[in-house]
Amino acid sequence: MEYEAVIGLEVHVQLKTNTKMFCGCINKYGGLPNTHVCPICLGMPGVMPTPNHDAVVKTILTGLMLECNIATRCKFDRKNYFYPDMPKNYQISQYDEPLCEGGAVTLNLLAYPKDAQKLETTVVDKKVRLVRIHLEEDVAKSQHDEGQSGVDFNRAGTPLMEIVSEADMRTPEEAFAYLTALKQILIYGNVSDADMEKGQLRCDVNVSVRPKGQEKFGTKCEIKNLNSISAVRRSLKYEIDRQIEVVSEGGTIRQETRRWNDVKGETAVMRIKEQAHDYRYFPEPDLLPLNTSLGLRSEAEVLMPELPSAKKARLATQYGVSEYQASVLSSEVALADYFEKAAEAAKDKGLVANFLLNDYLAINSDLSTIAVPAPWFSELANELTAGKINSKQAKEVFGLMVSDNPGNLTPLEIIKAKGFVQVTDTGALEAWCDQAIANGARSVADYKAGKVAALNALKGQVMKLSKGQANPQTVGEILEQKLKAL
Ligand SMILES: [Zn+2]
Repeated sequence: MEYEAVIGLEVHVQLKTNTKMFCGCINKYGGLPNTHVCPICLGMPGVMPTPNHDAVVKTILTGLMLECNIATRCKFDRKNYFYPDMPKNYQISQYDEPLCEGGAVTLNLLAYPKDAQKLETTVVDKKVRLVRIHLEEDVAKSQHDEGQSGVDFNRAGTPLMEIVSEADMRTPEEAFAYLTALKQILIYGNVSDADMEKGQLRCDVNVSVRPKGQEKFGTKCEIKNLNSISAVRRSLKYEIDRQIEVVSEGGTIRQETRRWNDVKGETAVMRIKEQAHDYRYFPEPDLLPLNTSLGLRSEAEVLMPELPSAKKARLATQYGVSEYQASVLSSEVALADYFEKAAEAAKDKGLVANFLLNDYLAINSDLSTIAVPAPWFSELANELTAGKINSKQAKEVFGLMVSDNPGNLTPLEIIKAKGFVQVTDTGALEAWCDQAIANGARSVADYKAGKVAALNALKGQVMKLSKGQANPQTVGEILEQKLKAL
């Protein structure tokens, strides 16, 4: 029997705001434990919460970016539970009236063609629907070491968004693509830095398996403690295999919460799943419901950025780069911005994309290390397009320009200093070709015998004689003419 997995994700996102969700404490990662606290976020008796305007606007903006319906009215609720990281013994969250409902995340799944010779990739799109996005406060952070436990309340009360997807994903790769696309949009909108290592984006996974073709869902398990996007993919692969093994041997899956152990590479039971009514939700009596139509929504609309998919499409049409290049360029706002500045004055924009993606990022993986003014790319590309230097020389100039340029010389200055010129004067080229033919009797004979590749050896000789300054294409043409005339 063939099985398929059914996957849904709950993603918690820390919002990038100046202050916490219901008090005036600074919202900042790091800092000495328990220094960003006040009576409100410590849950002292008698304190009153005030909602953070910016957090509400950023959650609405997220909803707009993800095509959600934005509620005109929403309210906050108390989620009751007892745990050391929760000083009030309840968390202010949203239960039945969240800020955003519906919506979708479009996955960019790069599908590689079976024919490995064709390196161009095609992009297949899939939509994962969203259930809802709600706003709540984060809890404190427990730390355990050497038999002692401590609680740091700096994180308690910071604004947190929960984004819940439908169970629309079928493979670990789709979950990976979902998180990648979601993270990209959150960063584009400047609502969060979404750094998983800093806990700014945290993810719980719901996964079940069912026989292929069956509509009814199997019993799901929730996996927690996933600290990277690759941990999500690996834990899903492990859990899907585990569940298929249990079911195919006639066993049943128990609904439970499991913890991912990244070192061992396996999941283990953490607790039997709690139900929503265990939390005894009720409306937060200290906060009024929010009406988003009185300015909150329009404030968010003004902040709407050009989204990754729109940027990708625009880069492809405006600059004539390939779909794949547009997809890489639009993966980060900073990269796309840099490319647009770099290509602005270039006659051949594709050439600039090649320099940036193939010659720089393929080696230096991080754009922030580049210290070159963006217009230099255009300057160099235009010299090549105009035939003033050849592609070999252009690559050398590029290498010097980005990594070995103590005098901070512009591409034109490097070209001048190196004495690079491309010789296109046919008189000089013909003389070098004659010399190469005279010295290369064997290559000439091979060529005459039908070995076309022998031409390259002669071409190499001419390039050497010209100290790399000949135009290789013209040299090829002249050599062919001369050899045919022999
Ligand atoms: Zn506070």
